[in-house]
Amino acid sequence: MSHPRTDLAALEIGELEAALERRGVERFHARQLYRWIYKRGVTDIDRMTDLSRTLRETIRNEFVLSTPRVVGDERSIDGTRKFLLELADARRIEAVFIPDTPSMTFCISTQVGCAMACGFCLTGKMGLVRNLTAGEIAGQVRVLAAATDMLDHPFNIVLMGMGEPLHNYDETMKALRILADAHGFAISPRRITLSTVGLLPSLERLAREPLMPNLAISLHSTTEGQRDMLVPINRRYGLKELLDACRRFPLKRRERITFEYVLLSGVNDTPEDARRLVRLLSGIKGKVNLLPLNEAAGIPFERPSDERVNRFAKILADHGVTVSVRKSRGRDIRAACGQLITETSRTAAPGKRLAMMMG
Ligand code: SAH
Repeated sequence: MSHPRTDLAALEIGELEAALERRGVERFHARQLYRWIYKRGVTDIDRMTDLSRTLRETIRNEFVLSTPRVVGDERSIDGTRKFLLELADARRIEAVFIPDTPSMTFCISTQVGCAMACGFCLTGKMGLVRNLTAGEIAGQVRVLAAATDMLDHPFNIVLMGMGEPLHNYDETMKALRILADAHGFAISPRRITLSTVGLLPSLERLAREPLMPNLAISLHSTTEGQRDMLVPINRRYGLKELLDACRRFPLKRRERITFEYVLLSGVNDTPEDARRLVRLLSGIKGKVNLLPLNEAAGIPFERPSDERVNRFAKILADHGVTVSVRKSRGRDIRAACGQLITETSRTAAPGKRLAMMMG
């Protein structure tokens, strides 16, 4: 009789040690497994050749190692690569490799779809399909690191793919612990950035985590009324409370919160908006990252001209706010911010799309 097997990919090392011990296997083999899975990027238990045959057999009988399957790999002229990954239940997500920014960065997803429904984001149009497991979140890093030959190189991770990480809090934090483990990737939390719309209770929880990633807040607006429309979660957790929480957020020396601000032509990119932003951020250790909108069909906003972007940036800089403009990468392959979407008309074959349109 078969029993459900435990997924090795979803276990922190302590859990793996305990799971092995329960099956009569010595704990130290957990470290060996971690090395194979994370340092060498091996996805097949039979290729873990320093484990005895009998041990491999025990492990195969008791565990699975599930790894997202690469079903698409598109390359941008700027070197960015967008991976379409299929999960065990055939759901699909996207993850992006962005070289030279100045270091190497993997942009990974935390959910299939997203429930936040921000007005300018394509992923938001999907709605939430489901949360990813810790194994699926960390698994994207395994797959991308292996596919890009980065297993032996340092890289950064941004949780800026599909999904709202704080809306899938436990699995996201577990994935970060798996990625940080010294026997695996050993990725320092300083190399990881978590981007959020600001779900307040979860943000307060994050403030107390021992393992603390860099924080990026998707602000996008300087008034409650407008943010209510652009980032609907603002109706529940408003701008003022969000900024108060940022003021209280524990930061070490030299650490700063990044405030992301997507620029929508004629909507939130005026000089008044810029000046309001300066006032809102006063007293917060932060910097601003401007994201000129990546346009897409179905998104009812326009990207501002470079002139408008520069005017906005200059007002911030003139008032002493550190500001950068995000260079959008991989726009030609729709890998840029807010352009990740799966399981909808964009990926469906034309025939299927027609069938969907006709209900
Ligand atoms: N849910 C998280 C992380 C994912 S999005 C969050 O909202 O922070 C990463 C960033 O891309 C966010 O700041 C998001 O608002 C921004 N973004 C979404 N759609 C965009 C678009 N069309 N153009 C530019 N940036 C966009």
